[in-house]
Amino acid sequence: MGKIAINIATGSIQQSETIVGIDLGTTNSLIAIVRHDTKKAIALREIDGLTLVPSVVHFDHFGNPSVGVSAAEKMISDPQNTIYSVKRLMGKSYKDVASETNQFSYKVIDDNSDSLVKIQVGERFYSPIDLSSLILKELKARAEHILKTPVNKAVITVPAYFNDTQRQATRDAGKLAGLDVLRIVNEPTAASLAYGMGLKADEEKTIAVYDLGGGTFDLSILHIHNGICEVLATNGDTYLGGDDFDQAIVKHWIQELNFPSLNNAQAKLRLAAERAKKQLSESDFFEEKTSEYTLSLSRAQLETIASPLIQRSLDCCRNALNDAQLSINNIDEVVMVGGSTRLYLVKEKVKQFFGKDRLYDNLNPDEVVALGAAIQADILAGNNTEMLLLDVTPLSLGIETMGGLMDVLIPRNSKIPNKAGRQYTTQIDGQSSMRISVFQGERDLVKDNRALATLNLSGIPGMPAGLPKVEVSFLIDADGILKVSAKELRSGVEQSIEISPKYGLTDEQMEAMLLDSLSNAKEDMQARALVEASTEAQQMLDTVNRFLQKNGSLLQAEENQTTQNQMNILKEALESKDKNLIQTETEKLNEITRPYAERLMDAALTEAMKGKKIL
Ligand code: AMP
Repeated sequence: MGKIAINIATGSIQQSETIVGIDLGTTNSLIAIVRHDTKKAIALREIDGLTLVPSVVHFDHFGNPSVGVSAAEKMISDPQNTIYSVKRLMGKSYKDVASETNQFSYKVIDDNSDSLVKIQVGERFYSPIDLSSLILKELKARAEHILKTPVNKAVITVPAYFNDTQRQATRDAGKLAGLDVLRIVNEPTAASLAYGMGLKADEEKTIAVYDLGGGTFDLSILHIHNGICEVLATNGDTYLGGDDFDQAIVKHWIQELNFPSLNNAQAKLRLAAERAKKQLSESDFFEEKTSEYTLSLSRAQLETIASPLIQRSLDCCRNALNDAQLSINNIDEVVMVGGSTRLYLVKEKVKQFFGKDRLYDNLNPDEVVALGAAIQADILAGNNTEMLLLDVTPLSLGIETMGGLMDVLIPRNSKIPNKAGRQYTTQIDGQSSMRISVFQGERDLVKDNRALATLNLSGIPGMPAGLPKVEVSFLIDADGILKVSAKELRSGVEQSIEISPKYGLTDEQMEAMLLDSLSNAKEDMQARALVEASTEAQQMLDTVNRFLQKNGSLLQAEENQTTQNQMNILKEALESKDKNLIQTETEKLNEITRPYAERLMDAALTEAMKGKKIL
């Protein structure tokens, strides 16, 4: 089947523009880019060497926000004005999160409604979108500072289980932060992409992405095929992560040391627990002495403490496999994401569970999602492959039909992936080729829309007009690539043509096209009516012409003259571009010629009867 690949991206994309990838995390966020020179994805690093920005917003007495490390430091000293884990509230109503609100030290407004939650800080109210936008604004400012160039476009990742409202909330947060969010990408998909999975067209793989972060655990099973990444199942625990390991260590110390004044020591102990946990990734023993007490932990002790928590994550893995109706043998690769996968025991247990000798864990597990987002951004920028990606069709897609009319196959705002097909036929007897021109836009006439490509289907065997059945199909895959194919069904003729990809429209161009279609709707209808009337008139003229050439002898001289006269009048009407006149004159020609058809039938019958005996 003839195929053309057309790129229909949403944004104005130039080769040199940097589009950043953002991992907007529950605990930490970070930005990555693909470097123009090395073509490698890297996380952006401040002079202090830090890549992670705590996803925490603090408001001072005046309501001025600060984001990141300085805000995170206020979590203990000023908890009511320090907002963390806002990602857990994205796109949710109070009813959705009612059972979790005791987990937050800040005030989540209980309006007992289905509308989206608000957070109260002092006298002010903020939506999770506002708060996320503050984090994104900070990330944007950092990127601009490090890159020394304006950053206006981004790809942002979200968990695979995020629903449409949560995805839209994330998009809106980006917009509020002054970012054009070109794409929302699933975190596990981004992580796989960071390891180069899904970049090759002929690759087929089933991947488990094990993501154990600070506060949440997610397991996603992905199937990659033909460059399309499908999420087969997700499972997880929204309250299982590194924090739970820290808490379990604290509990162990409290029991071991018999602490008297629990409350004062707890915050300090938690920080020490995290240090212990991290250090035990490299050494076998941790010890910290203060004037009051000595904290110690061996790797073996940590593993005993961590084991039941890790087991909980493996139960989620089993559930996800069941949901996807897969067995462990079906999983080709396991990708590790999140800081807590640095724990040696986590790696060992995951290897055991999936029966693997090796895991994909050599990239920094805190950065891997952002790195994948950067790779996706690079693809969108047109730097990486010829393909450009999008997630809904921004403008209608269709082909040109008779008289230059736009016949829409996939309307604007259709979800992708999407498929549509329609049958067309020939206009002329013996027509051996058909030109299929693909357009994008909302106007009724293709001349007002944007030409994307032309597919030429040739070699159609000679048939009377109207008999060939040409099936034109549009397929937009999950990555937003449009493939157009054409096949003549009676003969099986198909065409193969490749058209080099074109870049997408800028937002301004797209907006202009949409506005254009609205303001021209009335004229478009008139234009469409004129085209339809003219097409019908032309077809009528062609048919009568053919009849006169073949069967002129059946007509009397006077009839011939009347017909010719009416044909000339109709041709003049066509020139006038007056729709009503064209319709009237077409009808007159129809009236004049209708009896000829009967006569032709009679003649054909007489001919057929010749020489035959009637019994
Ligand atoms: P993330 O949400 O992906 O940034 O994960 C952060 C979590 O990873 C926190 O709970 C950290 O304590 C944990 N983490 C970071 N480094 C290590 C390490 N070396 N060993 C164990 N856990 C770690």
